[in-house]
Amino acid sequence: MSRDFILVLDLGGTQFRLALANRDGKLLSRYAASTYAAESQRRLIERINKAIRELTSDIGLEQVLGMGVAAAGLVNPGTGVLLSSPNLPKLRNVPLKALLEREIEAPVWLTNDASLAALGEHRFGAGRGFSHLVYITVSTGIGGGVIIDNGLFLGSQGYAAEIGHMVIDPDGPRCACGNIGCLEALASGSAIARMASEEMSKGKASIITGLADDDLSQVTAEMVARAAQSGDPLTLEIMERAGTSLGIGVVNLLHLFDPELVIIGGGVSRCGELILAPVRRVIAERAMSGFKGAKVVISALADDSGLLGAVAWVLDKGTSFL
Ligand SMILES: [Zn+2]
Repeated sequence: MSRDFILVLDLGGTQFRLALANRDGKLLSRYAASTYAAESQRRLIERINKAIRELTSDIGLEQVLGMGVAAAGLVNPGTGVLLSSPNLPKLRNVPLKALLEREIEAPVWLTNDASLAALGEHRFGAGRGFSHLVYITVSTGIGGGVIIDNGLFLGSQGYAAEIGHMVIDPDGPRCACGNIGCLEALASGSAIARMASEEMSKGKASIITGLADDDLSQVTAEMVARAAQSGDPLTLEIMERAGTSLGIGVVNLLHLFDPELVIIGGGVSRCGELILAPVRRVIAERAMSGFKGAKVVISALADDSGLLGAVAWVLDKGTSFL
């Protein structure tokens, strides 16, 4: 029997998404469920296995070429172990590859979600036709992936491209990783929400004050972006500040990797020009002259870049298995 189907899993801090794809990278059917910080490893794997059985009930597992897993956190593709995952503290040293292979009886490949998102954009999205690109996902946190010479750059352990933890301001705020002034602490969705509530707690006026029911802990990046889009000066200034930090990060990446293209994905990228304009301004102001020509665009695959990157990864790896 030919193995024409690929299973892909995107394991994130708030949900896991599973899909069945064909060899052309088309996602044929999907399954999504929440993940919970308090949930045990065993229970989560049981739920994933149940979802796998549901999704493959029509075709049978014997038609599955393999499975690609895009996991948030520190993932070692060599060992197939998920070392740790943000927002899911119970997942420590999980031998995900071995556990899932036991279930599907086909090979499983595991890689960091943002790295696979870079591969997805390169193969199926905004990065098609570009040999060198950097992908940055800006949502609750910030992650990224780097394509060099048409290949995914993973580093010695698979942990490369922790773009969110580049230091942008050594005197900046403390980051969730423990370091100080990381890009993630200055330009992520949570940083945008935090900066807005800090300014309002100092008495600065914004139309958000009404939107958040006067409770500053309820302020979200989405509210800030919406207010900025309607011309609210305080939130416009905050988006500009976040975009400037992101731009400084992008300039560092241009100087390091000399990409032709920088793709911005993640929830915050939905703000479009609000975040792109300051990034382009900072490139014009700060990049060395040879690097100013790099294009900066928004992701073409939105939430599916990780799943499609996992498809591409299995297609690349699975050929040697056949
Ligand atoms: Zn950090």
